[in-house]
Order: sequence, then structure tokens, then C-alpha cells
Amino acid sequence: MSRSAVWHPFTQHALEPVLPTIARTDGAYLETRDGRRILDAISSWWVITHGHRHPKIMDAILNATETLDQVIFAGLTHEPAEQLASALVAMAPAGLDWVFFSDSGSTSVEVALKMALGFHRNSGAPRSRIVVMEHSYHGDTIGTMSVGARGVFNAAYEPLLFEVDAIPFPAAGRIQETLDAFERVTRDRQAAALIVEPLVLGAGGMLMYPAWVLAELKRLAERSETLFIADEVMTGWGRTGTLFACEQADISPDILCTSKGLTGGSLPLAATLATDAIFHAHYSTDRTRTFFHSSSYTANPIACAAALANIGIWKEEPVAERVAALSRMQSEKIVRFSDNPRFENVRTTGTIAALDLRAGNAGYLAEVGPRLRAFFLHRGLLVRPLGNVIYVLPPFCVTPHELDRLYASIDETAGLASGSR
Ligand code: PMP
Repeated sequence: MSRSAVWHPFTQHALEPVLPTIARTDGAYLETRDGRRILDAISSWWVITHGHRHPKIMDAILNATETLDQVIFAGLTHEPAEQLASALVAMAPAGLDWVFFSDSGSTSVEVALKMALGFHRNSGAPRSRIVVMEHSYHGDTIGTMSVGARGVFNAAYEPLLFEVDAIPFPAAGRIQETLDAFERVTRDRQAAALIVEPLVLGAGGMLMYPAWVLAELKRLAERSETLFIADEVMTGWGRTGTLFACEQADISPDILCTSKGLTGGSLPLAATLATDAIFHAHYSTDRTRTFFHSSSYTANPIACAAALANIGIWKEEPVAERVAALSRMQSEKIVRFSDNPRFENVRTTGTIAALDLRAGNAGYLAEVGPRLRAFFLHRGLLVRPLGNVIYVLPPFCVTPHELDRLYASIDETAGLASGSR
């Protein structure tokens, strides 16, 4: 066989010369070309919610192709996008009345940042500083890297990244520091927006903080008229136990970014939801106030049809009950690691569970990371630790028995840590 021409994301080809070929997906499983079944314990980078190839989503995609493919979305509209926008407004936190479509989590964040700057500029008092939370991740484009944590992921691009104000992660015992820092950086009323991952910081290491902190940040943001951007790209669609994580803090952000689970994880699509005030700051007969953002595949009709089918599943099937049951199972199964000295920071939020393996070195490049991944894969489990952080973020169709198998393997990883010291 000739060598592959594919350059894979977040993959060091010198260390991983041959990658398994996935030939089929089904429910909680990926199946390799040679027939191995791998439990997708990370929902294929956090996108799959109900399970791979949910029949209603697959049918909706097939049906959509009977009438539509891509249609330019500037100056024209179509039914799947209209219906989806109405459904999203009805389901999202109150006050998010406008839906701007794009095609990935990163673009939904870029759109959010541009809306925030456009809002202040068009309101006659331009602001340009963005406040971010330490350890955040919002994507891999230049703009989203700028508002994300600096580190090994983006060191090479540092000269191109813009400056932001970072507030500390609200770790237990240090929460007041976070709130004070936010109050300080917004006191001069020059911050355009705060962008946060609500409740769980994903790529930063599945770091979790309580809902009341989110509510407090929102209150402080209002006081200084700083727009509040909730990046729910990872946390949305049930992952944290509620449809959107913001619900748990009982807040409505000014801007909300969603992608990943929007189509149940089946097709790329994203949406940035905004308030009427933000829309109206751009609404004018003066064309210079237009919101100047587009991507070719904005509101792809087939992806919109998949998202509508996903929403149908949320309405017709007991998804909330599944999410609650999975959340319960995750807490029950991970708790036994709390008194295991090989692990620390055992934590869950909704369907997400994480723990840190005590290893010689921590961080994304922790030496134990690749060994853990290989260890799990060998056992038919797709787990991609973030350095020494092992997390379980499965599709909602995962069974108790499958979780047992997974946690039994996590138990065994304690042996790997000792070797790395
Ligand atoms: N925001 C968050 C919170 C994310 O977790 C991610 C992706 N993991 C993104 C944005 C970027 O999404 P995408 O990879 O679809 O561009």
C-alpha cells in the first residue's frame, strides 16, 4: 500500500506512523477496517451526543439531499435554516433572539468576538479588550488562540496573537481572586467582552467550577457593560447535565456559541446566538454597520436538517432522562478513585467525569499521556488523556456495563503512572 498523504490534526506523525482506519461507526462504537470495535469514550472529540449514526439524523440527512445541497446564505434563505433558528431561539436561554450560522466551534467564537467589537463600535463607544479565563480553550484559529491559554499548542504563533486580560481560573479556595480580578479589569469600562467556557474548561484539562461563580461573573459583567460570551461549543447539548450549562447558573449570556452536539455530532455546523441589542447595533440603512462575516458553507441546508433532527430527538425521546442517568452513573463509578492515592482531583459535572493521574510531570505533554492512550486503545477503548488528565465523556447511549469496563481499565492505569516517575 502506498503511504498516506493525510496530515492529521494534533498528531505527531513521527511517533504515530500508522493510524487505525475506521470503516464504520455505530452507537457508542467505532469499528476498524479489520473488524475491531472501539468504545468511543470521548464522543469523537466531544461531538457525538446520542450515539453514532442515530437513525433519525441519518434519515434527515438523506431526505434533505432530495431537495437541497449548499445555497449561498447572503441575500437568500432556506427553510431548514429558518426552522432551525426558530427552534434554537426557543430552546436557548431567554433573550438570545438572533442566530448567526457558521461551520465550526472556532468560527462561532470568531463571530462572537466580532459581534462584541461591532456592538461597542456601532454604539458609539468603541471597546476592544477581551477578558478571558486562565486555562481556557476556544479554538485553533488566530483569533480563538488569542483568547485561549498560551502554551505548547500555540507557542509558534505567539507573535500573531493579540493581547487579552486573563483572570485566574476560579479554583476552590481562590474564587474571590477570580471575581476581584474581573472587577479590576472591567472597572475602566474598556473591556468589550468576557468569554468563558461555562462550568467546564475542556481542553484546558476538564477543569470544573461551580455555577454560582458563573452567575457572579455575569452580574459583574452587567455592572461594567461588558458583554458576556458563553462558549458552549463543548458544554452544550446536555454534556453538563442541562441542555446548556448556563441554565445551571440561571443566566442568559449576551452571546452564546454552539457547535459539536448541535447536529448530534453528525455534520459540521455552528451557531452564534445574540441578543436583540447586539443585532440592532448592526441594523441600519448605513451599510458600513453591516455584520461583515461569512463563510462559504454558512447554514449548510443538509447540516441544518441534521440539527433539526437532533432537536426532534431532544423533544421526542427521553434525552434529559438519559443525560440524568449517565450523570448519575459517572458520579457513582468514579467516586471509588477518590481515596486512591495514585489519582487526584476526582470530579464530575453532568455526563463528564475526570481525574488526574499522579504522574512524574503534568500538563498536556506529560510523558504518560501517549502511553495512556495506547494502553486504552489496546483494550478497545478510545480515551485521549489531556496529559495526565484522564476523562470520560461518552455518548449518552453508553451502557453501565461499558462504563464498568472503562473504569476497570482506568483502575489499571495506576501501574503506568509509577513507571513514569
Ligand atoms: N470552544 C470550545 C470550548 C471547544 O472545546 C472547541 C473544540 N474542542 C472549540 C471552541 C473549537 O471548536 P472546533 O474544533 O469545532 O473549531
